[in-house]
Amino acid sequence: NVYLGAPDRTVDSVCPYCGVGCQLTYEIKNDKIVSVSGRNGPANENRLCVKGRFGFDYVNNPQRLTKPMIRKEGVPKVPHEFIDPSNPWTHFREATWEEALDRAAGGLKTIRDRDGSDALAGFGSAKGSNEEAYLFQKLVRTGFGTNNVDHCTRLCHASSVSALLEGVGSAAVSATFNEVKNSEVIIVIGANPTENHPVAATYFKQAAKRGSKLVIMDPRGTAMKRHAWKMMQFKNGTDVAMLNAMLNVIVTEKLYDEQYIQTYVEGFAAWKENVKDFTPEEMAPICGIDADTLREVARAYARAESAIIFWGMGVSQHTHGTDNARCLIALALITGQIGRPGTGLHPLRGQNNVQGASDAGLIPMFFPDYKSVENPEIRAQYESAWGVKLPPKRGKTVVEIMDAIHAGEIKGMYIEGENPAMSDPDLNHARQALADLEHLVVQDLFLTETAVYADVVLPASGWPEKDGTVTNTNRQVQMGRAAVPLPGDARQDLWIIQDIANRLGCGWNYKHVGEVFTEMASLMPALANITWERVERQHAVTYPVDGPDVPGRDVVFDAGFPRPGGFAKLVATKLQPPDEVPDHDYPFILSTGRQLEHWHTGSMTRRTKVLDAIEPTAIAQLSRGTIEKLGIEPGDMVRVSTRRGEVELQARQDDAVPDGVVFIPFAYVEAAANLLTNPKLDPFGKIPEFKFCAAKVEAVRPR
Ligand code: SF4
Repeated sequence: NVYLGAPDRTVDSVCPYCGVGCQLTYEIKNDKIVSVSGRNGPANENRLCVKGRFGFDYVNNPQRLTKPMIRKEGVPKVPHEFIDPSNPWTHFREATWEEALDRAAGGLKTIRDRDGSDALAGFGSAKGSNEEAYLFQKLVRTGFGTNNVDHCTRLCHASSVSALLEGVGSAAVSATFNEVKNSEVIIVIGANPTENHPVAATYFKQAAKRGSKLVIMDPRGTAMKRHAWKMMQFKNGTDVAMLNAMLNVIVTEKLYDEQYIQTYVEGFAAWKENVKDFTPEEMAPICGIDADTLREVARAYARAESAIIFWGMGVSQHTHGTDNARCLIALALITGQIGRPGTGLHPLRGQNNVQGASDAGLIPMFFPDYKSVENPEIRAQYESAWGVKLPPKRGKTVVEIMDAIHAGEIKGMYIEGENPAMSDPDLNHARQALADLEHLVVQDLFLTETAVYADVVLPASGWPEKDGTVTNTNRQVQMGRAAVPLPGDARQDLWIIQDIANRLGCGWNYKHVGEVFTEMASLMPALANITWERVERQHAVTYPVDGPDVPGRDVVFDAGFPRPGGFAKLVATKLQPPDEVPDHDYPFILSTGRQLEHWHTGSMTRRTKVLDAIEPTAIAQLSRGTIEKLGIEPGDMVRVSTRRGEVELQARQDDAVPDGVVFIPFAYVEAAANLLTNPKLDPFGKIPEFKFCAAKVEAVRPR
């Protein structure tokens, strides 16, 4: 029972889960959150989904870490199944903060001084604030002396970011999702907003109800199809075939906007040659969508007064994820469906602050504001601002860091609020890497599957326990406020990062989170006219914003693009199969993702009573046809295996899943989906192929 009585005070903040960024009010009694209400924020207008409304009591979970811990001398690093998170004392001992911080920083310093800066790496968090992300990447770059810093964006929209930076010169969305109110045609591809961006989904459904043509493109028949004008359930992994067929129609039928292309787009002539081969007739058998539908949707999109595209990880989490996004960008550019109300490109961001953490430089190739670490002039600016010499080479990404540990190149890591022992592909490989580290510091709320491998565990702050800004999928910088006190000796993440940095010689003296925001904003032109005080006062400010007293812009690129000459760029794509296709031994396609009630690796939501009560069990979603073929009933156990591992979990009939496909949510440690997934990377975004690999599905006990 999470309801503890009528509140005695309230605190306004933002939801800690998805990138929609719903504003909410915590209702508090005796320093405990007792309930949550939606607030009138720009992204939610008082709405909340089940996670925002009921997903708050993880902060009171008895498994919360309340004391720093150090691994006991001589105790080997073993996987999570051998350690009870509520009783870790056979493996760890309690320590004072001074001892834990000295040990944490000391181990990192020893490796840096002995093996060089590139023997260290850090994962920050898209679950923390912008200020934490900024300080974390600054610590890795200035204190460790390496660009080996990354976070879960690498597993989420890295390929979208790489295509957007290349094509339109900016990784952020061109229009807020609320712009659907002005859209005649709305395409939602490779996304399942009713589960993953539930409040955004309400805007899409309302627009469809008002008469907008909603087109859902997804290998799974998502719940949004009930509201759709067209449901295009294409075959897994064939996005490029389907999208290029639509582009072919637009080019062949001259439905493109010649004047827009001449004014704002480069590379059309060469790019056009490439799409000639992708006729709807030839692509139809590949993607599974008939030629008439491909033509009809392409015409509707191109001819609409205003059309907008949303996409999710069904687009990005492929070895051809960047190509998928390039096709979507081409659709918008050749038709001029960008830069006006109701038009645009919008990758729906996953985590509450994955936009902000990437903006703040928590990625290995860019300083804050996507400024290349390899550009000597830019590097000189940051060297002057931060007062140290900076490394000239881009760093390694999430999966590359795990590979570098196996290769003996990386020996020490600092992980703040990420759980790669659940979120990385091919978990056996990732977990072994974590176990092999000479020195691992983990800062988190719980003894996660990653923290069990740590040498030092630092008890951190939950979102309702700290002040800080976050940036949602709409480019809205919003204020989160501390609502309840920290438990035990847990500390604010920001100050833990500063304490580690100073032990590595950084000499920082930030006294207030607002000071960090001010320094960060001074280095980020995107945040011009946004101050800490303004966000505090207004609760949310959309960037870019043209003055201190005017609202930010919901729609950008109305007069060209932030690229040389103001031109956007078209990039041709080719058909490329997924890295691992089904065969005789592994005849199914495995796809993974989230579900409504659970968040990513489950470290928060599975410690939340209401959410875990609604969805307590690891499941494999299978079609009726597959269930019958296996000779089982829904609820029976199935074994799903790939070339990398196997899990046993409960079969759930889900007619949204095609025959021959198994979909597994990745939040469940007892049947971790990522034991199975393929670590092969998209060559541009370096994102693994979570959405496709070959798998075997068997009944554990055939009836
Ligand atoms: Fe939180 Fe996203 Fe749900 Fe809004 S839609 S309440 S931000 S999880």
